Amino acid sequence: MQLSKFGMKFTQKSGILELMEDLGSVLTSDQKIYMLGGGNPAQIPAVNALWKTRMQEIVEDPADLANTLSMYDSAQGNFKFMTALANLLNREYHWDITPDNIGLTNGSQNGMFVLFNLFGGNDGKGGKKRIMLPLCPEYVGYADQLVEQNCFVTRRARIEETGSHEFKYFVDFANLDIPEDVNGLCVSRPTNPTGNVLTDDEVLHLSNIAAKRGIPLLLDNAYGAPFPHIIFQDARPIWNENIVLSMSLSKIGLPSTRTGIVIAKKEIIAALAAANSIISLANGTLGQNIVRPFVESGQILEISQQLVRPFYEKRSKDTIAYIKETFDSGIDYRIHKSEGAIFLWLWFKNLKISSRELYKRLKARNVLVLPSEYFFFGLDEPWDHAQECIRINYSGSTEDVRRGIEIIAEEAAREVA
Ligand code: PLP
Repeated sequence: MQLSKFGMKFTQKSGILELMEDLGSVLTSDQKIYMLGGGNPAQIPAVNALWKTRMQEIVEDPADLANTLSMYDSAQGNFKFMTALANLLNREYHWDITPDNIGLTNGSQNGMFVLFNLFGGNDGKGGKKRIMLPLCPEYVGYADQLVEQNCFVTRRARIEETGSHEFKYFVDFANLDIPEDVNGLCVSRPTNPTGNVLTDDEVLHLSNIAAKRGIPLLLDNAYGAPFPHIIFQDARPIWNENIVLSMSLSKIGLPSTRTGIVIAKKEIIAALAAANSIISLANGTLGQNIVRPFVESGQILEISQQLVRPFYEKRSKDTIAYIKETFDSGIDYRIHKSEGAIFLWLWFKNLKISSRELYKRLKARNVLVLPSEYFFFGLDEPWDHAQECIRINYSGSTEDVRRGIEIIAEEAAREVA
């Protein structure tokens, strides 16, 4: 088979393909797999019960059922849902938006793909426009999204060792030079893979830097506020005309509805809706209709703050405590300060093998994690640190996460000086 350049790019070996293959292998393997890889959210019974009741309500109402299953929505999204969301955000945060500032996508992964390619790639004049990720490591799922090759430029995070077994990354604002061809900045907040949460001031600073250059700041809020609010410290939802905010219903427990939400100025939403028409005609309505009443009443904020956030915060604390208990005091390890998201990012400073090799050894023992190499794309120069970390997802069953950690501790003890 002869593939196009596009075809080759989208089938070549990549971090996100490996991640999704690992996810698939858990579903088909006949062995017990300890799944600390992937990005599946937790099963939170009280939240699942709400979605179940709402699904029953939809099924029993013929008009609601028809709207949910049997009609294409507009390419921009479901008007009732967008109206409810605009009202909620205006009421709570005074954003002064209308439904025309909101666009839906089939998952925020799909939304980020469209946004990256709207702003990055061949500029049609013989040059390239690039997207800058100012805080590397950044989400592996971005690495292959730009159709044009080599259009991400990233900057190393500044590292601070913040406790005996803790560290934290910061945007290195002092050295943040933005090349001329950069046409957009992007950060995830909370950050996948690290659980870092940029402060409000840091976000506003990035937004100002971008505004001065006349380029947008793409703010990926898949884990952020106001929903699902997997943030363990003060951080307010931030949006302005220069920010393109990407949100998702996945981490509030509805990943399979594939619902992404973009909030941006109207021209950008119009461009996104045009791309939606071409790529997918319309978006799935199911997720939007399940959550719409909770958005109308504002209950989605309580679900996030009172059920989702405390669940993950406790899980994060318990998992860190278990790592400290299990890891031999001889192992030189640090955990990135857990400020949000569903992951812990472990740094083994003196790892004698690469993170990829550690990943393979763990996989051989049925423990799936993510090696760090894939999260360090777009750097000008190699960085040893890129081979020294792993990401673990702590949302699975406590038993599995604990067993996984015990096996990681055994393998690390062998390979960390
Ligand atoms: N952005 C970030 C930072 C993520 O971690 C993920 C998924 O894990 C996504 C976007 C994509 O999420 P979805 O397409 O399920 O909305």
